[in-house]
Amino acid sequence: MSLTLDTSARRVEHAQMFIAGAWSAGASRATFPTVDPNTGETIAQVPRGDATDVDRAVAAARRVAVEWQFTDAIVRAGLLRALAAKVTEHADELARLEALDSGHYLAKAQELVGAIPLWLDYWASLADKVGGRQIEVPGNKLSFTILEPLGVTAHIVPWNYPLLILTRSVAPALALGNTCVVKPAEDTSLSALKFAELVAEAGFPGGVFNVVTGYGGEAGAALAAHPDVAGITFTGSTETGKQVAKLGADHVAQVNLELGGKSPTVVFPDADLDEAVEAAVQGFCSHTGQVCVAGTRLFVHRDVREPFLRKLSMRLDATRVGDGFAEGTQMGPLVSQRQYDRVREYIEIGKSEATLYYGGGRPEGVHAGGYFVEPTVFTDVVNTARIAQEEIFGPVASVIGWSDEDELVEKVNDSIYGLFAVLLGRDITRLLSTARRLQVGGVMINDWFGELPMTPHGGHKQSGTGREEGLEAVHGYTQVKHVAINLDPLRPATDWAGAPL
Ligand code: NDP
Repeated sequence: MSLTLDTSARRVEHAQMFIAGAWSAGASRATFPTVDPNTGETIAQVPRGDATDVDRAVAAARRVAVEWQFTDAIVRAGLLRALAAKVTEHADELARLEALDSGHYLAKAQELVGAIPLWLDYWASLADKVGGRQIEVPGNKLSFTILEPLGVTAHIVPWNYPLLILTRSVAPALALGNTCVVKPAEDTSLSALKFAELVAEAGFPGGVFNVVTGYGGEAGAALAAHPDVAGITFTGSTETGKQVAKLGADHVAQVNLELGGKSPTVVFPDADLDEAVEAAVQGFCSHTGQVCVAGTRLFVHRDVREPFLRKLSMRLDATRVGDGFAEGTQMGPLVSQRQYDRVREYIEIGKSEATLYYGGGRPEGVHAGGYFVEPTVFTDVVNTARIAQEEIFGPVASVIGWSDEDELVEKVNDSIYGLFAVLLGRDITRLLSTARRLQVGGVMINDWFGELPMTPHGGHKQSGTGREEGLEAVHGYTQVKHVAINLDPLRPATDWAGAPL
């Protein structure tokens, strides 16, 4: 039975896995609770999928893999467009589910869900346009490559942007002819299940798209380790990503890793400070700091430190933290008790390593059971401090001073991560030459991060391998076959230099 949402009661019923085009309570029929982070109260029971369910889902995806691969690309594209229309039709319900389950405030969840069709349309448009290439080889031969799907792809999704991150990898996988098994994060399974319902309504054949809910160490690990999974897209922490890569290596799966970050927001001395403050706040407070590209290292040029900090605290005073369903909320709760405890622990660590400049506590007037924290800023942070090096995944920023570009670049690059950077200033030569020296997968100049289907996203160093989005993502969901045709009568074989083989 399809999932039902009662917004006023904040309850969801009939959360079931989606395998081979049918709803399933799972082999064990065991469930686990998922909670509303605004209150800490249970909103639904979700099936606790295990290796048996993963086996069933992978087998279902495998059964239809060849048929889906050879379905005309134009037909696959049409189904993705039909799905985009379904998402638009059900946008309000999807946004409410996402807000209730993940803690995005409602207006943000609506914005995010409203953008989902962009990814589906982008990949629908590319389905019949990407392909192999012709290669000039010696002799009267025709040589070319074919891009083929991998087969069954696994999609292991985190809890911070559940539906967006699911869509950004499932859309190219389906468009390019793969069949999919999704494992959503245990804290945020609900939007994936609603999405599955829409996939079915859009007309996708059963088995092409499957969702197995459950715990990472059970369903997630079983999926990554499954020998019939040919490709794995994992988005999550660097630590878990390494485990998933090892599981995939045992059966030589192609693995895309979109991992953590500790991204810098750099304020140059000629920056417009109001704009710089806005970018900085977006950088570490968006989704309560639970963003892979969160700009939690604030590199502020020493010449503008004082005015920047004054403006920053005024801007934070005006940030409304509260229940995601309340009018005007700009920052909701953290996703779970576990994440709340983790962020609180880092705030305590920060107090012992640096100066607490702003926040550090619990906002006033919020639900006692909710996982709320204030935006928090530490100053006098040395670059080697734990709060400057470790991914906190909460609204906690470390202000670090710099005086010249050599010092800046050395400090920014002194990190195991290399996901993203924001540079704020006016001297474009200075900004661009700094951008070239940073060891990161993306740089935004005088702007804050905006995820788009057409621009490649991914990390250097321990922030990941491969790319999501843009044409670059094609490689993550395809493999190359080389085909050569000899157009002359067959002669004794020779190598390229004409010598006998
Ligand atoms: P986790 O690494 O804890 O979990 C990610 C996913 O992996 C979840 O579905 C989780 O399931 C599953 N998982 C956990 N253990 C295993 C395992 N042993 N085998 C297979 N799967 C497993 O990350 P979070 O959910 O905490 O997400 C936050 C992290 O994601 C941050 O580090 C953030 O930077 C990163 N991220 C990166 C992005 C990027 O594009 N680079 C984008 C967004 C987030 P379960 O939830 O049930 O444990």
